[in-house]
Amino acid sequence: AENLLEVKNLKKYFPVKAGVFKRTVAHVKAVDDISFAVEEGETLGLVGESGCGKSTTGRTILRLLEATEGKVIFDGKNVMDLDKKEMRAIRRDMQIIFQDPYASLNPRMTVADIVGEPLDIHNLAKNKQERNEKVKEILENVGLGEEYMNRYPHEFSGGQRQRIGVARALAVDPKLIIADEPVSALDVSVQAQVVNLLQDLQKEYGLTYLFIAHDLSVVKHISDRVAVMYLGKIVELTDKKELFKNPMHPYTQSLLSAIPEADPKKKKDRIVLEGDVPSPVDPPSGCRFHPRCPKAFEPCPVKEPEFKEYGDGHFAACHLLDK
Ligand code: SF4
Ligand code: MG
Repeated sequence: AENLLEVKNLKKYFPVKAGVFKRTVAHVKAVDDISFAVEEGETLGLVGESGCGKSTTGRTILRLLEATEGKVIFDGKNVMDLDKKEMRAIRRDMQIIFQDPYASLNPRMTVADIVGEPLDIHNLAKNKQERNEKVKEILENVGLGEEYMNRYPHEFSGGQRQRIGVARALAVDPKLIIADEPVSALDVSVQAQVVNLLQDLQKEYGLTYLFIAHDLSVVKHISDRVAVMYLGKIVELTDKKELFKNPMHPYTQSLLSAIPEADPKKKKDRIVLEGDVPSPVDPPSGCRFHPRCPKAFEPCPVKEPEFKEYGDGHFAACHLLDK
């Protein structure tokens, strides 16, 4: 399949201001030179601990945040070059689902208006009646009946609210959905339902997903490929099965070791990382993971490992792999 989305050398730095004159004294390097592509129809999982830059990546792709550097090619166009009008047209094709369905839904709007608003913005219905017909259909597709149309967000459970968020994203018939930790705020019992719903909708609507999560066990089910982020960088990217079978990067190995394994034969030792994720304001030299890496050796604190291909479509950045 063709690439629907290509992210090239993307950087997003946030200025840190201080003093009476609010001068910029440093930068938070939230996303620091990452590249990846998402093929049409696939799901790319983007995984890492909180603060590693996953959400910033998603928002920068959509230009909810302006990139510091880099390109985002969507459907053959560099999104960074588009003016307001062109951007509005492309927003129809790129939608986002947020982590906290409650915070992202206007409490004073009915479900019909929340889901119907994007249809109004993009002039996709002739009149209110046609709009509400469409809303009804979309709500049914996400497992909510017509009887919910005139209710308000607070009347719903977390899982139902996320279904409303999904319906709103889906209303304009997008090509790409960036799902930013769509199940992290939900009860474990509800998470699988929402993930299954997203998978069903992907087939039905031919959607492409960038699925952001802090946990590999969430993306295990839904992803075709997985990219692992650490402190603003992608450290490993490959096919999902390959990643779970043959993780190359020590950080990925530690994330995998934290997933509970039911089968005692497959049980592996938990790799516990020391220390917290360092600040992205002044990230560690060389390999950013070196202060916490159980396998760090001489070059790691001084030389940054290159992100390159070590097997068919298996990319990683670690000096060990060149040994
Ligand atoms: Fe660990 Fe060195 Fe590899 Fe970084 S480059 S992950 S510090 S072994
Ligand atoms: Mg986040």
